Amino acid sequence: MVIAAALLFATGFLAVSWRVATATESDQRLRLVEMTNSFVSIYAETRGDSTTVPATFRRMGIDHFTLNRSPSATQASKSIRMPGRPGFELETVENDERLRSIIQEYVDDPAKSVREEHRLENSRMIARTIFPSIATSESCTSCHNSALGAEVYKTGDVMGAFVVESDLTPVMWKNFLNACGVFIAALLVISWLARREQKRMATVVSTLEKRVVLEQQKFEAEAKAKFLMAHDSLTGLANRKMFHDKLEEMIDGVEGVGTIVGLLDLDDFKDVNDTFGHGGGDAQLKEVAHRLSEIIDLKGGVAARFGGDEFAFVVNVDGFSGDPSSVGDDIIQAMQEAFEYESMQLNLRCSIGLAIGSSLTDLTPNDLIKAADAALYVVKSTGKHGYRLYDDAIKASVGRRNNLAAQLPVAIAEHEIRAVLQPQVCLETHRVVGFEALARWRYNDEEILPAEFIPIAEEMGIIRALDLAVLKCAAELVARQNRSGKALVSLSANISAASFYSDDLCDAILMILADTGLSPKALMLEVTESVSIDDWDRVQTALQRLGEHGIRASLDDFGTGYSSLSYLKQSGFDEIKIDRSFITEIATSEDQQFLFHSIMSIASGLNKIVVVEGIETQEQADFVSLQGAQIGQGYYYSKPLEFSDVEDFMESCHDSSDMVDIRTTA
Ligand code: C2E
Ligand code: MG
Ligand code: MG
Repeated sequence: MVIAAALLFATGFLAVSWRVATATESDQRLRLVEMTNSFVSIYAETRGDSTTVPATFRRMGIDHFTLNRSPSATQASKSIRMPGRPGFELETVENDERLRSIIQEYVDDPAKSVREEHRLENSRMIARTIFPSIATSESCTSCHNSALGAEVYKTGDVMGAFVVESDLTPVMWKNFLNACGVFIAALLVISWLARREQKRMATVVSTLEKRVVLEQQKFEAEAKAKFLMAHDSLTGLANRKMFHDKLEEMIDGVEGVGTIVGLLDLDDFKDVNDTFGHGGGDAQLKEVAHRLSEIIDLKGGVAARFGGDEFAFVVNVDGFSGDPSSVGDDIIQAMQEAFEYESMQLNLRCSIGLAIGSSLTDLTPNDLIKAADAALYVVKSTGKHGYRLYDDAIKASVGRRNNLAAQLPVAIAEHEIRAVLQPQVCLETHRVVGFEALARWRYNDEEILPAEFIPIAEEMGIIRALDLAVLKCAAELVARQNRSGKALVSLSANISAASFYSDDLCDAILMILADTGLSPKALMLEVTESVSIDDWDRVQTALQRLGEHGIRASLDDFGTGYSSLSYLKQSGFDEIKIDRSFITEIATSEDQQFLFHSIMSIASGLNKIVVVEGIETQEQADFVSLQGAQIGQGYYYSKPLEFSDVEDFMESCHDSSDMVDIRTTA
């Protein structure tokens, strides 16, 4: 390429310089003839005879101006001769046949123009200009005719020709050598330029490459950031924001098409995290996400993870004829099969709340999510593992719940929450050893039960105020009772684990004891974990601090919900309360008997007092007593009592002053 370019350059140079040289030489040849002409004219003027100039004289001029004297090695030598008309030559005869025939052509046609030619003759480059020599005057013809001795010429005849030659061989070589020089110089310059260009191009290319890589990385980073902004990093499902966007799109979509929104929550996910660690929890979440998205993708919907073990999905159905229950069935079915994690089988049980809406209804995306959430709540509170579609019944219960939630803080502040007391009885002696304080709320002439308002208080974060209010009014009564000297009883007060989130709980309890005069030793705190507590250590620390003051603690509802064996291994509990669900069939069910027996073994191994709640029959009381439980509580002994009835109840009982010992000696 570089060579070709240099060659082209050199060839161009050669062509131009050759053209210039030949043109110059051609001019010089013509000038040579003009010089001989002026030589003749000047001679004629000098002589005073302007008409007659002997041809011999012209020849002298020609001889004079023929410059082949000693040209340098690189210059063209020039010569001029004047051969006569073939056959009538005087002094110069043209021996070259070709030139003779050219002269003849002029003789035949004097109007023929001047001839220029370049020829390679005997290894020399000859440039030649030939033009006719015409007899211009009488003196020319008469002179030549007399020399020839015959009447050959008349005026206007061609008498011969001027042949002016340049030997261009040295010029040709000079040009050739110059062209070679130009070729080499061009080669060097072009290859230097090419190399420089190559380097520049390499820099440009590598800069471009770097830019492309950077652009690519930027693009990938942007795509990743965009993905992460819209997706959950653990499962890759849509996140809450993207889910909302999609939900809006789908609701505003085709008219008459129904949209099913579902919220899915894993059942007992906390247990998996506690037992298998976060690795197990994450694996379970990924598996659920995988199975859920498989189903929802097939239905052309969107699955999302809101966080924790909360998932959501949205699918369009053909009008309201679409069967939402098929979505629920499909998902429950898909989660049926356990999955393997580190060679163990983990269940994927879940609860699902469904709600259906369309562009024809007024339900906004948020309304739909709330409705699905209400349906999910119903599933969760009625046994879990299933699905429920939001309907009028749920709508009514949500309305009631919202109303209660609005009234509850007022009820606490206005002391409308009162305590009732349920006796706790020594199973051996049948004497009353204490009372459990249970919250009651009369609202609009209706007795609202704790099962309804305690979860609301926990969710609203006002459970601590409620617990303390109940404790305070119960402590007043029990302290009074104990001061009366008739009996010495303990007070069991329910404190939700969520109440321990406030730092000053211990101080508040101690303050109540100081205010009411109840002995710390007479107080048993029943800790329930109806909602999952992340920071159990906090509960533990508070119980230890209260323990230093003589206050004891009981693990309530043992065996159900979150209250499990894992909490027993932690210190801080003096007592466990076995949930009533363990004794409902105890008289007949061998399984229950076995379970109860096992729990008793653990409790006695850990040296804990055992209280059995929900005793309704004598058989139950006898059985649990025989198994070694110390205290019983239930309708068999007494329903929860209003304050006004407590004294009468105590009156009807035997002397119970020694009953507290059961707890202190355990
Ligand atoms: P819990 O602490 O396990 O209380 C025992 C529940 O069983 C009480 O229901 C009681 O009335 C009921 N019960 C007692 N004996 C029997 C029986 O023989 N048969 C049947 N079927 N039930 C019996 P209640 O009063 O409705 O309280 C329900 C739950 O609400 C309590 O369970 C406790 O966890 C919670 N709770 C009640 N008061 C408070 C409170 O002041 N603070 C907190 N945090 N929770 C409370
Ligand atoms: Mg309790
Ligand atoms: Mg209980």
